[in-house]
Amino acid sequence: MRLYNSLTKRVEEFIPIEEGRVSMYTCGPTVYHFAHIGNLRSYICEDVLEKLLRFSGLDVKRVMNITDVGHLSSDADTGEDKMLKGAKREHKTVMEIARYYTDAFFSDCAKLNIKTPDVVEPATNCIPEFIHMIEGLLEKGYAYKAGENIYFDTSRLKEYYVFGNQNEDELMVGVRDDVTEDTNKRNKNDFVLWFTKSKFEDQALKWESPWGVGYPGWHIECSCISMKHLGERLDLHCGGIDNMFPHHTNEIAQSESFIGHKWCNYWFHVHHLNDETGKMSKSKGEFLTVSLLEKKGYDPLVYRLFVLQSHYRKPLTFSFETLDQTAATYKKLKSRIAAVADEGNVDEAALKEWHDKFVQAVGDDCNTAMGLTLLYDVLKSELNGATKRGIIEDYDRVLSLDLLKEDEEEAVDDELRAYVEARIEERAEAKKAKDFARADAIRDELASKGIMIKDTREGVVWSRA
Ligand code: AMP
Ligand code: ZN
Repeated sequence: MRLYNSLTKRVEEFIPIEEGRVSMYTCGPTVYHFAHIGNLRSYICEDVLEKLLRFSGLDVKRVMNITDVGHLSSDADTGEDKMLKGAKREHKTVMEIARYYTDAFFSDCAKLNIKTPDVVEPATNCIPEFIHMIEGLLEKGYAYKAGENIYFDTSRLKEYYVFGNQNEDELMVGVRDDVTEDTNKRNKNDFVLWFTKSKFEDQALKWESPWGVGYPGWHIECSCISMKHLGERLDLHCGGIDNMFPHHTNEIAQSESFIGHKWCNYWFHVHHLNDETGKMSKSKGEFLTVSLLEKKGYDPLVYRLFVLQSHYRKPLTFSFETLDQTAATYKKLKSRIAAVADEGNVDEAALKEWHDKFVQAVGDDCNTAMGLTLLYDVLKSELNGATKRGIIEDYDRVLSLDLLKEDEEEAVDDELRAYVEARIEERAEAKKAKDFARADAIRDELASKGIMIKDTREGVVWSRA
């Protein structure tokens, strides 16, 4: 497996710390609203990455947080609390909002065939862990108290901008510019670890801490939740590109200061989904969700295919015209696969050969488009039907497009057709035996189910009423 690493800005061989096992951490959603299809682009790509690692024979443990506290409407510790904003909007409590949108998120994920990570941990479960890390940072002199909040002191670090020497302007992409200066901060990039005093007196969730009643800043949760479940050395950390700064930069700063050594080896960042007006974002108000796509008649897996057609390191522009094209592609692809008869014996050697081809091609920095190309190559190949179906089933462990699943409507139709045809046959037998009462009873039974039959010169034809 080769992966682009945002730390080194290069595509590198992926070598886990422990042979055969991967520790993988994903920044989860902030659950104050529905996920938009941009967020879900990131989760689809991360899902493919996880499945690909497993597909290539590695054992993966994947952890995801749920941000249910601490994320302010600007990524730089300013603005309103996102959860509180959601609660006010919907006249609910913060915990009700968190529960509702966490469930909505996983229901969207299920529709997109995104696997739930092995561990999912809401930030509000881990307050003692946050306090423990903040205490450690204070003891080691990496944090300070000012204006009754605790801040991380970025001037104590040899290197703060770790992502491949990007300059500050580049890193500020995605950070909103309505940032009001916090005068407690000693350095511009210092960030809050724990708030006891902030401008929101009505902060709904508060906890006791050695520094007074308060709540955590946003970044601390990912360092703590990751270490809680995956230890102090992490193989792989994922998120959307906007998470690179300040979120991931701050995660690295506090984690490595706390543990005193390198924390995570590979950083995987998914580029944004944009709409025609620019970056898709929840704070814009109107945004595209999976439910909206469904309401418009799209199968959510069409959106998954749309994402897989492009590379995760390129921005992707969404439009309904392109989605329509993808819907047509998906339909054609599925009917081509459905036409592959399950005949012959599975050629195990070919199965292995094509499996390895997929690992090679898609394993080259998550090249999902190459995976789709290989799928068409399988269909075009001279392999027998059973082997083709075996390979497709194998590939679908990563692509997760339900390639071999018959459309529900068609499946129902097939079932219905078989039932109606059996009854028609029975009726013909009854007629032949001059049992007209029985023949009529069958006709009535079908009619009661909304099936009309007609005797024609070509035989019996049926239709739905
Ligand atoms: P949030 O719920 O805002 O914390 O974001 C959840 C995930 O979606 C994070 O990994 C973000 O980096 C990612 N994300 C946010 N906006 C987009 C977008 N337009 N395209 C792709 N990923 C995004
Ligand atoms: Zn995070």
